[in-house]
Amino acid sequence: MRSANVFHNRRLILFKIISSIMIFFAVFAAVIEISVYSSVAASAATFSSSPFTVKYIDVGQGDASLICCDGHYMLIDGGSSKKSDTIYSILRKNNIKELDYIVCTHPHEDHAGGLPGALSYAECKTALGPVATYDNDSYNKFLKALEKKNIDLIVPEAGDTYLLGSARIEVLGPTDIVPSMDPNNISIVLRVDYGDTSFLFTGDAEQEEQQLIMWNEYDKLDVDVLKASHHGSYNGASYAFIRAISPEITVISCGKHNSYGHPHEEALDLFKEYKSDLYRTDLQGDITIVSDGINLSVSSEKKLTTNVWIPGQDIGINSYTDSDNSTKILSDENAAKPDPAPDTVTYIGNKNSKKLHYPGCSSVDEMKETNKVFFYGDMDEPVGQGYEPCKRCNP
Ligand SMILES: [Zn+2]
Ligand SMILES: [Zn+2]
Repeated sequence: MRSANVFHNRRLILFKIISSIMIFFAVFAAVIEISVYSSVAASAATFSSSPFTVKYIDVGQGDASLICCDGHYMLIDGGSSKKSDTIYSILRKNNIKELDYIVCTHPHEDHAGGLPGALSYAECKTALGPVATYDNDSYNKFLKALEKKNIDLIVPEAGDTYLLGSARIEVLGPTDIVPSMDPNNISIVLRVDYGDTSFLFTGDAEQEEQQLIMWNEYDKLDVDVLKASHHGSYNGASYAFIRAISPEITVISCGKHNSYGHPHEEALDLFKEYKSDLYRTDLQGDITIVSDGINLSVSSEKKLTTNVWIPGQDIGINSYTDSDNSTKILSDENAAKPDPAPDTVTYIGNKNSKKLHYPGCSSVDEMKETNKVFFYGDMDEPVGQGYEPCKRCNP
């Protein structure tokens, strides 16, 4: 009886040791398997502390992504003109006085509108746009802002590559530009590689452009992180395109209660099918992804309070279609406005004298271009920066 018990105990101890070893290896395997860490954090501090960071900026209904690598910066789109202040503040808060690249993926207001705001704070070495000219207000203002700073616009071709610190950027699209194309389908599509990690920025490319990219550069589409095309619209996520990318992480940039119902259920279903982790600026604010070249960690500005897979239309569309077929927004400052206010400069400051003027003030004419700082909102921002009203125009 006793010996049987001892034997039993020994067997038990042996069993415990073996199972402990097995648990240890299982946990160890799980730790090395999971390379994506996620957290909720104030994401402003990450630029200086990490060699490679992408911030998908919450600009409501629109797109704006800021990439930092080894102290070099690339801004891809700037949201709408209403969000100029947001871009301006992020650059200022992070003391980003020079952007190595500004990319305007395509001429739509929700991408191009906020870029003059970036140029009113930071210098820029290289500006990329899909076409040399385009007949709309937003693109013209972007071009004018570049002109003011003597920056030439480069129209890149698919296959062109650029360096951002030790990160490599490759232009995948547009591969062909047909004048009749919807502006979304001339979106500059970029692949960014840092170490073994990779990111895809798609602008608003729809199936037409996606198809051309798949024909030409299918193998280059497989990346870890996707900025969902066209704010998670069904036409930004074709089955074949998402299969080619098979993203580990997808970020959707769209506005809460937007009138388009973004993100659409069809797109969400595809990301789910490909088992992608999903992050959304409408639900989580700024999304920041840090890469060490092997692992990715994701943090968001706000805690998720609802299911991330819920389509935009189920969150509520805060708009209605009027009898003249135009969309009217009922409320919510983040809602998509089809006819946004032009980005009128409200004040112009002098960097040197720290005086603030109305744009029409005669002092502005005498001011050196390089000393001008443009403001788009009320006086809080310039006053907060220490500007004093000019005695001539008395703003
Ligand atoms: Zn857009
Ligand atoms: Zn667009």
